[in-house]
Order: sequence, then structure tokens, then C-alpha cells
Amino acid sequence: MPMSLTINHNDLYRLPWTLPDNAISWLEPTSACNLYCDGCYRKNEPNAHKPLELIRSELDTFKKLRKTDGVSIAGGDPLTHPDIEGIVAMIAEDGLKPIINTNGLALTREKLRALKKAGVKGFTFHIDSKQQRPHMKGKSEVELNDLRYRYACMLAEAGDISCAFNATVYEDTLEWVPEILEWGQKHIDIVHILVFIAYRAAPIHKGYDYLVGGSKVDMTPIAYAIDKERAISIMSTDIVEKIRTRYPDFQPSAYLNGTERPDHFKWLLTMRIGTKENIYGYTGPKFMELSQSLHHLLKDRYLAYTSPRVLGRAKSMMLLSPLDKGLGRTASSYFHAALRSPALLFKKLHLQSIMIIQPADFMPNGALSMCDGCPDITVYDGKLVWSCRMDELITFGDWVHAVPSNGATSEEV
Ligand code: SF4
Repeated sequence: MPMSLTINHNDLYRLPWTLPDNAISWLEPTSACNLYCDGCYRKNEPNAHKPLELIRSELDTFKKLRKTDGVSIAGGDPLTHPDIEGIVAMIAEDGLKPIINTNGLALTREKLRALKKAGVKGFTFHIDSKQQRPHMKGKSEVELNDLRYRYACMLAEAGDISCAFNATVYEDTLEWVPEILEWGQKHIDIVHILVFIAYRAAPIHKGYDYLVGGSKVDMTPIAYAIDKERAISIMSTDIVEKIRTRYPDFQPSAYLNGTERPDHFKWLLTMRIGTKENIYGYTGPKFMELSQSLHHLLKDRYLAYTSPRVLGRAKSMMLLSPLDKGLGRTASSYFHAALRSPALLFKKLHLQSIMIIQPADFMPNGALSMCDGCPDITVYDGKLVWSCRMDELITFGDWVHAVPSNGATSEEV
């Protein structure tokens, strides 16, 4: 089905995030990692931990150049940093929400307690089947749900910490996305966000020259360069289509477009409301607009990572039904169900987000379509840069431009 028939961007809310005013920013305190994941954008450099003064200066650059609500603390794996509690405390003292992006391996209950004391507001656990996890080799996405559940329970025990899971989506794992969504529904009370990221890489075997400052460069050392055939153009709409095989009324409400394609969904956000047993519906674009605008009006920044306490009050959000058709449909489906089964009225309704990310797209002319209003902007050398392409700056000192060489393909790769 052509993409325009799947979802029309004109029907959704374009998230208001921009370079100087965004919901999230991306901090990399280390490039050391205790795991290898296929599709990682960063070279694993053991002990490459940044000193706290450098991290302070990167946070100051954000303060100067970009309003933000949450700071994703990534890497590498940030839990390998010996001063991770100090980094979390620094961000919290700036009045921002520290969110740790981790594979979870180094998270113990004791560490979690210390991080909560330091002010952590959320965790995003990267768990998928193409990681080299000890004792987990060969486990399918579905078998990994037990591991996801273990981390979700740890956070739930600690209390009021946002719990998110992300998984990179490859050609051969796309089919498991609905299963993960179903698992997420069963744990909607303790799992607040599910993120699916389409796999991307820079193909160096496809008839393009890579240039820096007009001179050809060898892309081989770049972490995301590949020289063999792999599917690198799974679209967010492909993921939506797959989800709709299990949830036919699955309906996103907000998006970020591509810098080269206004009708591409680089970040595609869906919010569903339900219980562990049933999803009653999806919020619409007006609800998203209201929540982002209201937060900006009151706090002077766009909203990231709503607290779990608020997400558990989805019933009261339905009071906004007159303003948002999605909420109206959800309320109607919920009250019809409650008429058949009045006990439902005493159950909590939860709000859960599903974010689908379609990173950099390689265009036929070699241009890269980035996420317009990129939330994962980081600091490099005092400047705001795309974190997904920072390896180009580290390796060559500047961005790489691809141009078709003889024999370049004329279609999107
Ligand atoms: S442009 Fe790159 S760093 Fe920014 S959100 Fe998209 S994939 Fe992430």
C-alpha cells in the first residue's frame, strides 16, 4: 500500500520540536560499552569516560543553545561511567529530567537506589535479539520479554520512574513488533514507552563517493558503514502496517518529518489508553498539541517523559474528549465496555506511548534526510550536532557528503 494511504501527515500533529527548543537532548558521557549491539552508531572504546568538567561544559552548551525538558544519558553504556550518579545529579540540579539509556547489564538494585537518590526520572532499556547478551544468545524478541519484564519490575519497585524499552527493527525482526506491543499491553501499568528504531547504515558498496571538504574519504572506519547487502530502508509506515496486523485501529497522532521529505515520519508517536486486558483507543493530534503547548506555556519547554503517576490517570484525561476526537472515541469505547462490565469503572486506565523512529534516510542524490527537529542532538566541540552521525566528526572532523559515482543507483537505497 502506498505510504500516503497508510497515514497522511496532514492529519497528524507535527511535534513543535526544533534545534533551539526541544523536548529532549542527548548526552554521551562515555563511549565505553559492556556489550556489542548490531546497528550501534558509536565505536566501543573501553574506559573512554568523559571527566565531569567536560560533561558540565556540555550541559552548559545545552543551557546556552537549547531549551530542553529531558536529557537522554547515552553512550556507550552510561552505567559503565564511574561517576554516573554525579552526572544524573548535575542534570537534576539544572532542573532537567535525567533519563538513562542503557542495555541494563550494569543495573543492580543498589545502583538503582543510588540513581533514584541522585534524581533519575527514567530509563530506556535497549533490548533486542541482535545484541551479544551473555546467556541470551539466540533468544528471540519474544523470549526477551522475560528480561524486559525483570527490568520493568525493578523500576516499578523503586517507584515513579519512567520505564521505556527500545528495540532496533531489522528485516528479520519486523514480524515480532506486534508481539512486543502485546507484551507491552499486558504490562501497561509498569511499561510506559515502547520505542522501535528502524535499522540504518551507510552503504559503501552502492556506487557513491563519500567526500569531506571536496576530497574523497574512506568510510570503512565509520561505525555505521556497511559493505554488504542489508535492508536499510525499513520505513516507520512498514512498522505501522505490521502493528496493524494485530491492532487494526492502531493510530499515530504526532510526528517529526524528514529534512528532505515532509511526508516521511522520522519520529512517529502513538498514545494508547487501556488496561492490561484491553486497549480502548488512541489519543488524537489535538491532545498531543494541547499537552505540548500547555507544558511550554507553563514551563517554557516542550514535554518529555511524563511521570508514571500522571500516565496512570488516563481516565481523567478523557474529560478532554470534546477537544480531541481520538479521546472521544476512546471514551465512548470505554464507557460501552463499562456498561457491559461495570467493574471496569473501578479499574485504572493507563496511557502508554509507542514511538517509531526512522533514522537518516539515504536519498538517490546522496543527500541524507535527517529528523527535522532532531531530539537526539548532542554536543561536540561546543556545537550542537546529530548524535547518530557524530562518528563522522570524530573521524574526519566534518560531515561526510555522499555523491553518486559512476554506476550509482537511481532509486532510494
Ligand atoms: S537525526 Fe539522527 S540523532 Fe537525530 S533523532 Fe534522527 S536518528 Fe536520532
